[in-house]
Amino acid sequence: MNGLKFISTIRDFELRGKNVFMRLDLNVPLDGTTITDETRIRESLPTVKYALEQGAKIVLASHLGRPKSAADKKYSLEPVAQRMSELLGIEVILLSEPDSDATRQMLKTLRANQVLMLENVRFEKGETENSEELAQVWASFTDVYINDAFGASHRAHASIDALPRLVLKKGIGFLIEKEIKMLDQLMSNPKRPYVAVLGGAKVSDKIDVIEKLIDLVDVFIIGGAMAYTFLKAKGVAVGNSLVEADKVKYASEMMGRIEVRGKSLLLPVDHVVTSSLAEKTGTLCADVNIPDGKLGVDVGPKSIENFAASLKEAKTIFWNGPMGIFEEEAFSKGTFAVAKAVAESSAFKIVGGGDSAAAAHASGFAEKMTHISTGGGASLEYLQGDKLPGLEVLRIKRSEVL
Ligand code: ADP
Ligand code: MG
Repeated sequence: MNGLKFISTIRDFELRGKNVFMRLDLNVPLDGTTITDETRIRESLPTVKYALEQGAKIVLASHLGRPKSAADKKYSLEPVAQRMSELLGIEVILLSEPDSDATRQMLKTLRANQVLMLENVRFEKGETENSEELAQVWASFTDVYINDAFGASHRAHASIDALPRLVLKKGIGFLIEKEIKMLDQLMSNPKRPYVAVLGGAKVSDKIDVIEKLIDLVDVFIIGGAMAYTFLKAKGVAVGNSLVEADKVKYASEMMGRIEVRGKSLLLPVDHVVTSSLAEKTGTLCADVNIPDGKLGVDVGPKSIENFAASLKEAKTIFWNGPMGIFEEEAFSKGTFAVAKAVAESSAFKIVGGGDSAAAAHASGFAEKMTHISTGGGASLEYLQGDKLPGLEVLRIKRSEVL
């Protein structure tokens, strides 16, 4: 599998003196104006640094959160521009008015130790509407378009889709290149045993990924709220745990298919339970059956042991979905234990999904993973075989080559 076929990279262009419009995913979590996780800024640096070294004149663009209008100042990229400036050691000039003449003027006089950053592209209504009019404003000062916003590439928005349609020289940056290469390795000739750890809130969110993986993986480990739908399908008592009633039949069929294919499925054999989600303490349910009135909020110690034993043997691991409500300390043990087991395995190990990435970072084992995808939704959509608009628009058509 080569998801990058017919897509140029930033290396393919002469950048000296050229105006480079660089779409990044700088959508970092903020607490007021404090950045609480700067991973996405750091992951964007190699492409920006490369373009600077090549002598490009750079206009950075990104969205941040979901502002309703430009008046929503809490979604300003100001703190991001500041942090970017510190990390690059150069001046990052934030342009609050994305007027094309002003930007073109600024680009003319831009010095080598400066980059421009547009204010939150979602302050413009046209961004989410994929407006060609807005894209034309940006295209008017763009020589080369580079998309390195993996986490936004599953959205056909103006800075991802409409703009590159108007630009001849277009390609990806180093982050997207890395993301796609890593995800491709999960899908073609993976080393065995291949273990997929799935969890999180809903089976329905993950069905398409399961379908893609079913012929590829050797072992499915299923935890999180998802597990209760499967346990229910097996006739296990699940109390008040989150179950998707309309997916019980699917779960049952899937278990049948796993068995027919001679693959394994590990489900929780014990649980951490509570009486209500308002309660922030849990008790151990050592039996696989959950009593009436209780709901499962994390996997138990015996389950962790089983999961860890399987992960230890793995040569390829894909992990998506927390094992419990890890945001609550009392229910985080299973998720962090899985993070540890994945980290300690010698496998090629990829973490995908927004909450799973957050869990991997919070676990303290992030450094030990082969790759943690910066694109929550985008990584899952790519793996399940959906075409990402941000990549498709960059693919050079055969007619253009001939
Ligand atoms: P990702 O973003 O990595 O794809 P999901 O969004 O599918 O992951 O799932 C993450 C959410 O699942 C978390 O908010 C977590 O609290 C929730 N979750 C996990 N286990 C349970 C459970 N047993 N009951 C309710 N919610 C759960
Ligand atoms: Mg999520």
